[in-house]
Amino acid sequence: MERREESTDPAKLSKKELNKLKAREKKAAAIAAKKAQEPPQQVVDLSKYSHLFGTRPLVEAPLKNSQERRVYVAIDQLTAKLHGSKVWVRGRIHRVRKAGSGMCFITLRQRWATVQVLAQADEEGNVPLAMVNWLSKIKPESIIDVYATVSRVQEKIESTSQQDVELKPITAWVVSGVRQTLPLRVQDASIPESLLEAQRRELVELDEKLKKAREQLEQLKVGSPSEEEAIQRAQKEVDLLTDTKGRAVKYVDVDQSTRLDNRIIDLRTAANQAIFAIQSATTAFFREYLISQSFIEIHTPKLVGEASEGGAEVFAVKYFERNAYLAQSPQFYKQMAIGADFDRVFEIGPVFRAERSDTPRHMTEFTGVDIEMQIYQHYHEVLTVLSNLFTYTFAKIEKHFAPELEIINQQYPFRPIKYLEETPILKYVEIIDLLRDAGVDIGYFDDLNAAQERMLGEIIYRKYQTDFYIIDKFPSQIRPFYSMACPEDPNYANAYDMFIRGEEMCSGAQRIHDPEMLTQRAIERGVDPPTIKNYIDTFCYGAPPHGGGGIGLERVVMLYLGLNNIRKTAMFPRDPYRLLP
Ligand code: ATP
Repeated sequence: MERREESTDPAKLSKKELNKLKAREKKAAAIAAKKAQEPPQQVVDLSKYSHLFGTRPLVEAPLKNSQERRVYVAIDQLTAKLHGSKVWVRGRIHRVRKAGSGMCFITLRQRWATVQVLAQADEEGNVPLAMVNWLSKIKPESIIDVYATVSRVQEKIESTSQQDVELKPITAWVVSGVRQTLPLRVQDASIPESLLEAQRRELVELDEKLKKAREQLEQLKVGSPSEEEAIQRAQKEVDLLTDTKGRAVKYVDVDQSTRLDNRIIDLRTAANQAIFAIQSATTAFFREYLISQSFIEIHTPKLVGEASEGGAEVFAVKYFERNAYLAQSPQFYKQMAIGADFDRVFEIGPVFRAERSDTPRHMTEFTGVDIEMQIYQHYHEVLTVLSNLFTYTFAKIEKHFAPELEIINQQYPFRPIKYLEETPILKYVEIIDLLRDAGVDIGYFDDLNAAQERMLGEIIYRKYQTDFYIIDKFPSQIRPFYSMACPEDPNYANAYDMFIRGEEMCSGAQRIHDPEMLTQRAIERGVDPPTIKNYIDTFCYGAPPHGGGGIGLERVVMLYLGLNNIRKTAMFPRDPYRLLP
């Protein structure tokens, strides 16, 4: 697009532009005058301070003795108890502020913990002025080591997580400096959603008002050129609103694609550090629980020779002279493991879906947590294991990750999840009744859309006071061919979904372990039996009754934390439009 050159001819400028130009010229003159009064800059020989500050070598020399070993203290461990101790601390420069000559404040950050470093030049030369100046010029996000004295402060420091102490540097070293302009600031990416929401609302209102004021001004200009005073009044109103709009933008509102394009910077925010700590804890507690219940962890292939489950949602990849596919779930393999007598298995691994769904809850690659187990009497054995798996994990996270939950809450406020000791299990027909009672036009065999699922979530929350529940006995039509039909009514299947806050995050069923029935169902659903021969053979050689479920890890974390988009819980999300970074 061609850009219009800004006019610099004062005669062509409006009154407002003229005032702006004058203000700019005045400011430039003041800066020039101040510079002229400054004493000429002295060239400081920094080499004489090489024992106090500088840049660390890329590779450090080997230690000659154990006394040379530095013991680093984590920032979140810096408390008043350490007052007077000398410590090594490594962190990123979160903020740096020069306070007059000879003094500089640095906020040092390590994940979500921050501490203030106060560098103050002293007359004895322990901290030379050159060191303070050098520190004040290090670019934010650089990683530095400081050897410092921990000092208790009189007044709490509100802006850091460590509020009772600050660090007085003795020596300081750049470990890794920032070389390029940062595409976004961690501080901006950390602004609480509540403040951004309020700002967005205010800007929309101001936009509305400004639009109306401009229309009014236009009408006055067109309709009655003589009404000079009214025009001036309207122009003032427009100017005022334009200014107010500028002033209303207090926070940089970093949008999702900027965050994801520059994910490594975005991931440095306290909330993101905490989100991925919760994600890691979720899989750790899943493993802990499943192993305690005699499950073993397995690893099935992700490169498969057939588009296993018959859907069109597979990615084909070149495999030497032929095509292979990226597994859309470990479904067949985990069932084959049951056929091979592993009794109870689980897998945590990548799952690929070639779905073009551009929604806040779908990705083309996600982490599947899959379980499969032998059934002894009734498939509700599976529901019991899974329901306990979730309540165990929720309780463990609450207990052991309270600080992380609080950190996430500060940026993305959420109501903690509510769940019951006994998870409610509602039949599909019952939930259709609930929706119909609420005025939704839906049939007993229809699939629910996302809005209906959310509405149901609200109804169930009101009725049972829980965000976590199970819907059982889905219509067979809307479940995969390998789901076992309900013995009382074959229109329904022994199949269930699990929900958090009105969104599905786990889906499963009893599977057909009879090869003839399985073959028949596959044919009915358009799956060619020879293409799944290995799978069907498993049951020809005898396999116990079994069932299981598939959980989406990122979805569970998103819903547990009440986040609004699954991309927030995927470190490097993949969707139809994003393959990088
Ligand atoms: P949905 O109805 O949400 O598209 P689905 O019924 O296709 O999901 P399953 O194939 O049964 O889901 O997968 C089991 C679980 O895997 C889901 O409950 C969900 O948590 C997760 N999941 C499924 N598809 C996706 C996806 N595209 N992105 C992220 N997670 C997914």
